[in-house]
Amino acid sequence: MSLPPGSTIGIVGGGQLGRMSAMAAARLGYRCRVLTQEPDGPAAQVCAATIGPYDDPDTLRAFAGAVDVITFEFENVSAEGLDLLASLRPVHPSPAVLRVSQDRVTEKSLINAAGIGTAHWLPVSEFIDLERGVAQLGLPAVLKTTRLGYDGRGQMVLRAPEDLAVAWETLSPKPLILESFVDFACEISVIVARGEDGALTVFDPVENRHRHHILDLTLAPARINETTAAEARDVACRLANALRLVGLLAVEMFLDRDGRLLVNEIAPRPHNSGHWTIDACPVSQFEMHIRAVAGLPLPPATRHADAVMKNLVGPEALNLWTDILASPGLIPHLYGKAEARTGRKMGHVTRLFAKGALPGEFGVRDALGILG
Ligand code: AMP
Repeated sequence: MSLPPGSTIGIVGGGQLGRMSAMAAARLGYRCRVLTQEPDGPAAQVCAATIGPYDDPDTLRAFAGAVDVITFEFENVSAEGLDLLASLRPVHPSPAVLRVSQDRVTEKSLINAAGIGTAHWLPVSEFIDLERGVAQLGLPAVLKTTRLGYDGRGQMVLRAPEDLAVAWETLSPKPLILESFVDFACEISVIVARGEDGALTVFDPVENRHRHHILDLTLAPARINETTAAEARDVACRLANALRLVGLLAVEMFLDRDGRLLVNEIAPRPHNSGHWTIDACPVSQFEMHIRAVAGLPLPPATRHADAVMKNLVGPEALNLWTDILASPGLIPHLYGKAEARTGRKMGHVTRLFAKGALPGEFGVRDALGILG
């Protein structure tokens, strides 16, 4: 059943993903209320907010009482808190989907059980598991926390035997997961939406480039062959089905040097690598998210342009804001964060190109002007 206009969508989390979801919801005639600890955060600036901890039952009950349906915009919320919310209101995606995405071991087990490839991996609970794992997978390898990692936090690359003890001491919380190091040709991602009736709509695969472990550039579409692109879309759809997802799922993959796709991680929410869709698609990832959660039809995730998205990270990017505004062709987005800390995503910029006219390496840099 579809949510009538004027209803209120509750969003757990108050960052930029909540902000842009709320802006898309407003265009469809919905109100939004975020549950956040930041009274003046990016999302709370554009919609109503309930302020309090994600695991406080009184706060959760008050929030649920003020909304009609609930979703979330980041994964490090309490799954038990989401369970409580789900006992009071429909929650999409379900707490079960959140639990899968919160734990890299559960996540990779589900992906492999769906017949989809990942890097070789082993769970690491004790130091001896790490020694045995490295003996099996070889070096280099990547050691990660199973929970609470993002933007490169909670992981270390092991290159030499002496790195094991240092990484074991450094990484927390335990347990950990050891992955073989993928010598990838490129990193891509696919965003898929799935409705309650099982309908699927999937955006084109895009290529992602990272800088200091943080997404720097997204190129839409990814410069990969059509067979690989079709396979990437298929992988995303199969995972959305395997999760019985209602909502949006971003699937990050490596394309290795042998042309194989290996899933790195999934995120059941709007994703940084989908920000280009606001400007290049009739229906953005944020609108698709809201549509799936509200039970509205999911139109084809078509694209009317090629695009490059560049993140504005930290104070250094923000210093260019006036120049960005004065640069024709750069479409500016700012998230309203008060403090520009190093490594913090403050906004992004999109540049559109005619379909099929995404320029090569130097052309992209040129097109980004002062940001190139
Ligand atoms: P993650 O937190 O898992 O998304 O990892 C962040 C980034 O680290 C990825 O986007 C990759 O660039 C790199 N990375 C993660 N896992 C591996 C791996 N197994 N092999 C090579 N690079 C990796």
